[in-house]
Amino acid sequence: MMAMAFDRAGAPLQRVERALPTLRPGHILVRVSACGICRTDLHVIDGELPHPKPHVIPGHEIIGRIVAVSAGVRGFKTGDRVGVPWLGATCGRCEFCRSGQENLCNRPHFTGYTLDGGYAEYASADADYAFAIPPQYSDAEAAPLMCAGLIGYRAWKQVNEARRLGIYGFGAAAHIVAQLAVYHDQEVYAFTRAGDAPAQRLARQLGARWAGASEEKPPKPLDGAIIFAPVGPLVPLALAALAKGGTLVLGGIHMTEIPAMPYELLWGERVIRSVANLTRQDAKEFLKIAPRVPIRPQVAMFDLADANAALDRLRAGELTGAAVLVPQA
Ligand SMILES: [Zn+2]
Ligand SMILES: [Zn+2]
Repeated sequence: MMAMAFDRAGAPLQRVERALPTLRPGHILVRVSACGICRTDLHVIDGELPHPKPHVIPGHEIIGRIVAVSAGVRGFKTGDRVGVPWLGATCGRCEFCRSGQENLCNRPHFTGYTLDGGYAEYASADADYAFAIPPQYSDAEAAPLMCAGLIGYRAWKQVNEARRLGIYGFGAAAHIVAQLAVYHDQEVYAFTRAGDAPAQRLARQLGARWAGASEEKPPKPLDGAIIFAPVGPLVPLALAALAKGGTLVLGGIHMTEIPAMPYELLWGERVIRSVANLTRQDAKEFLKIAPRVPIRPQVAMFDLADANAALDRLRAGELTGAAVLVPQA
């Protein structure tokens, strides 16, 4: 099968021919029809996340059809459409797994990082961590739901009571969360890089009350905010826009250093917290809500072989909405 694989940190992905993944017990083999590109893929490729699987195939927003199931798989059969997310496997035994916090597992596996992912024609996955996809979505539309949607949803749950919600970094996750928030009658304030007119336009189209540059103050203080951009200096900016008692959620897996800041930005019972990975429960909830809203991901499709060009555009901030790789038929 054809795949795009990690070579070394900072280098472009390499186009490789690989044998089909061997089917381990409890696993499914999926013919990939779409795989979303996530900011985390860039962190893997750029060497910002430690110890990736050597020569790993990135990609953790996989949509495809099952072509083989191994013994012990329940709930799926050949031909079913499934989604495979970032959370690839957990130990099931550590204190976090046993307390409903499998997203914090001490011995986790992650798709497209410690396990081969979906920048390929085929991928294997532990069936217990894969999901049926609502029929309302095309393969390409469904792909960003698997991470931008799921992690976005988990981040949003921390601020779903906020009347005025700020979102910093208006990319794939933000454009999904904005739809969720508007559906729940929250006022959305979208913050982008200065001058990013396409992202600001998309935010307004999706129902944002206001869209502007991250350095700008919103017209009214925010009750909650989420930062999706991996940019530490956004933290004091977002805190300065937050009302007393407000919560700031950091939704990315990696962030540049957070600068020193005066305590008064945090004073007044403002809260900063991160959100790490996802649980299968998050996925079950989100995949039920998404078609009800209905959340409509805006996708730009690229041929799988053009993964490096698509990643370069994401790095340069030239993509609006979500990018999705599609293997050639
Ligand atoms: Zn992701
Ligand atoms: Zn565990």
